[in-house]
Amino acid sequence: MKVLVLNAGSSSQKSCLYDLPEGAFPETAAEPIWEAMVDWGIHPDYGQLTVTAQGTEHEIRLSRDTPNHGLEEMLATLVQGETPVLGALTEISIVGHRVVHGGDRYCQATLIDEAVKQTIEELIPLAPNHNPAHLEEILGVEAVLGDVPQVAVFDTAFHTSIPAAAATYPIPYDWFEKGIRRYGFHGISHRYCAQQAATLVGKPLESLRMITAHLGNGCSLTAVRGGESVNTTMGFTPLEGLMMGTRSGSIDPAIPLYLMTQMGVEASEVDRLLNKQSGLKGIFGPSGDLREILQAREGGDERARLAFEMYVLRLQGAIAALIPQLGGLDVLAFTAGVGENSAAVRSATCAGFEFLGLELDESKNQGSAKNSRISTANSGVAVVVVHAQEDWAIARECWQLARCP
Ligand code: ADP
Repeated sequence: MKVLVLNAGSSSQKSCLYDLPEGAFPETAAEPIWEAMVDWGIHPDYGQLTVTAQGTEHEIRLSRDTPNHGLEEMLATLVQGETPVLGALTEISIVGHRVVHGGDRYCQATLIDEAVKQTIEELIPLAPNHNPAHLEEILGVEAVLGDVPQVAVFDTAFHTSIPAAAATYPIPYDWFEKGIRRYGFHGISHRYCAQQAATLVGKPLESLRMITAHLGNGCSLTAVRGGESVNTTMGFTPLEGLMMGTRSGSIDPAIPLYLMTQMGVEASEVDRLLNKQSGLKGIFGPSGDLREILQAREGGDERARLAFEMYVLRLQGAIAALIPQLGGLDVLAFTAGVGENSAAVRSATCAGFEFLGLELDESKNQGSAKNSRISTANSGVAVVVVHAQEDWAIARECWQLARCP
């Protein structure tokens, strides 16, 4: 079964094609047979389409007036050009889209019909940088591939199980009724990470009290009990919670008001500062890339040291805040760019939880292979590293829906 996965961002479109068996779903993630990405943010004059297939990578330039942001050109490389992988586009059985915002209406992956499209459109005010791109892509696939089944896999869906006490903000209640509530994001990654973590510790997911830490450019934690999300650190928008690469995470809500009323900063500029110029980048300066910060810290850079300490302190505080709701902690799972690659972050973070009996095996932590347990056999909390595989998780949802719609 050929499953096409599409992941549209505000200035780029990523896609990949999996060739999955009809029988049982593979236990370990397979590599896609084709990957493509259109990036409109690299060059002012053209979009760059990069295609990886059959062990090679090649680039194609797309003019700025290409319709559908280059979706048709991207899909054409499946059947023609340097590395065709299909005889015809009709071989594609199902198409899965990562959709950032599904509100509180969709708790699982859903076959796209008119009602789903309408919901994605209605939620544009809550996800102005993403939902328009998702909608455009869904309509683009209809135009190019006809009536192939399409599936929306929502980033918010995993968190629809969060209880009201965790989903409601302590503001006038009628705001909640107007949709101002915690939605949570990174749900596809958190759900997949929790499932993989349970496999790594060899226990049923339903029996575990777990915190999944998705630490990439965006960062969030999810408390998972009985296999369900019961709380998460991102909220109404992906700006809340942990300190991130360029996003502030939670700060005193009076700060933006002060900037606007006392310092004359426009709302749009506050938005840009908090989303693009804050977090690790805001403190360190040159970038929000943790690799650069760790290197600068080695060289004695004070702001790099401060940024790292703040990042870890806030991470520890957020982990600690979720534990009472779980009633304890069996598993702490790290995933995504920082979570998978930074032994320094894992080590410094875990050091604060020795009082729980958590004991890292430092040699495993330093040399951690993707998908491994890095705590000692006697540790009071199992600590694991899970390789984030968002596209693979989306392909699995599609595969399941294709078999049992
Ligand atoms: P995104 O959230 O955009 O999908 P990723 O999950 O790929 O991002 O994470 C990107 C971040 O991971 C980078 O900004 C970088 O800070 C961090 N990262 C990647 N490799 C390493 C590494 N070896 N050590 C520390 N941080 C790393």
